[in-house]
Amino acid sequence: MRYDSYTRLINGKHPLPEGYVPKQLTDIGLPFQASSQDSRRLLEIRTAQAALRLFQSAQRDGLNLYGISGYRSYQCQKQLYGQNPYVAAPGTSEHQSGLALDVSCAEAGFALTEEFAFTSEGSWLSRNASLFGFIIRYPKGKENITGFPWEPWHIRYVTRALSNYLALTGQTLEEYYALRPF
Ligand SMILES: [Zn+2]
Repeated sequence: MRYDSYTRLINGKHPLPEGYVPKQLTDIGLPFQASSQDSRRLLEIRTAQAALRLFQSAQRDGLNLYGISGYRSYQCQKQLYGQNPYVAAPGTSEHQSGLALDVSCAEAGFALTEEFAFTSEGSWLSRNASLFGFIIRYPKGKENITGFPWEPWHIRYVTRALSNYLALTGQTLEEYYALRPF
């Protein structure tokens, strides 16, 4: 599988190479809880465009999503992992791909906590993310399959064709690839 595929599986068994940097990282101007030069604002370009449409659609429903963390380099993940072994090991974080974004809202105190799922924004996100090509990558009840605790704030761009398929079938990326050769 190509590393720059939008639908690729990234996890402990399928890490990204150490030197992998996504092509065309961009700051598309999403509302972010991060300073203007912070690299966490960056996303792969198609992911950024889809996230912008997602945020704008939420806004039309009177809801304000905020980006908290997008792109994270291999080096940055390595540093985080050194400080906190509970975060994903370097190479195994989807944030290195530029295809993942952590989001929150004012009601959740801009924090990445399970409480976000019970806010208006979090509930809207879980119902609408797939319409814009995103999945809630680590859902509740699938912890033993994804290897991650429930993260209602972490969305992953996989294209609309795949996000709709996964939403309809209730599958995680791991389950999707378990049924298919790479
Ligand atoms: Zn995340």
